[in-house]
Amino acid sequence: MGRLDQKVLIVDDEKANRKILKELLQEEATIIFAKNGEQAVELAKKHVPDLILLDVVMPDKSGFEVIEEIKNNPITMAISVIFVTGLANSDDEERGFDLGGCDYIYKPFKANIVIARVLMHLELIRQRKMLDKFAHLDALTGISNRRKLDIVLKDEIAANKRDQKQLAVALIDVDFFKQYNDHYGHGAGDIALKKVATTIRENLHRPRDFSARYGGEEFVVLLPDSDLAGATLVLNNMLQAVEDKEFPHEFSKISDHLTISIGAVVIDDNQSNTQEEVLLSADKLLYQAKKNGRNRLVIECI
Ligand SMILES: [Mg+2]
Repeated sequence: MGRLDQKVLIVDDEKANRKILKELLQEEATIIFAKNGEQAVELAKKHVPDLILLDVVMPDKSGFEVIEEIKNNPITMAISVIFVTGLANSDDEERGFDLGGCDYIYKPFKANIVIARVLMHLELIRQRKMLDKFAHLDALTGISNRRKLDIVLKDEIAANKRDQKQLAVALIDVDFFKQYNDHYGHGAGDIALKKVATTIRENLHRPRDFSARYGGEEFVVLLPDSDLAGATLVLNNMLQAVEDKEFPHEFSKISDHLTISIGAVVIDDNQSNTQEEVLLSADKLLYQAKKNGRNRLVIECI
């Protein structure tokens, strides 16, 4: 990741201060400026920077008022804020930390202190984001894990209702995977799961399409804003793609190759299904797909 991948919003009513901070930091991050509190809140929402350097004393809206708005908005609440102030007053400093600030920089600026503080916080933010990312990935396959699925599915069900669209939820199982593991060993089984996960991901094309390992040899795919016809097409292509890869499976009772079965539901906006209900419905259809001979899709609107 290059240094300019991180964004810093500099908020100061005095042009001279903005200029000094820019010169100090422009090599370290992409810089955005706001010259008053109103603009700061607006740009924070628009750009969601990694870090805000926030002047405390400004004429229209103080830095303390700005941070309250930022910390109360779900879009901006996670942004780290460093106060920039000439006030060396411990009551003020305490208030700033109480409001959610993570550090202070004092004016007049000492170049090495400004750079050291900002770089330290940018590094912390980078590490926090990396930890978040790994906490949501399945270690074996590299696609999302069940924890991430819980979050995304909940969001997508809510978005589906709000946007009055349809959402397809598919549960995928590798056919005769127990036999695969028993004959080829768990190491080979792990490799097969990785290959299936990669094939699933290759067959998702829109930014919000989502895949996760649900557990064992089961995967879940979410196709937001998809109707029955659209979801059927995508999932049948996925099923065919796994078969076309011709990953050998001599111990499958239906093919010479690895295949998958898919149970999927399409829910519309007037359904009030919980995540558990949606997954349970998909699981019932997956059972149907298996009962009907495997290597197939069973999909229904619920
Ligand atoms: Mg000021």
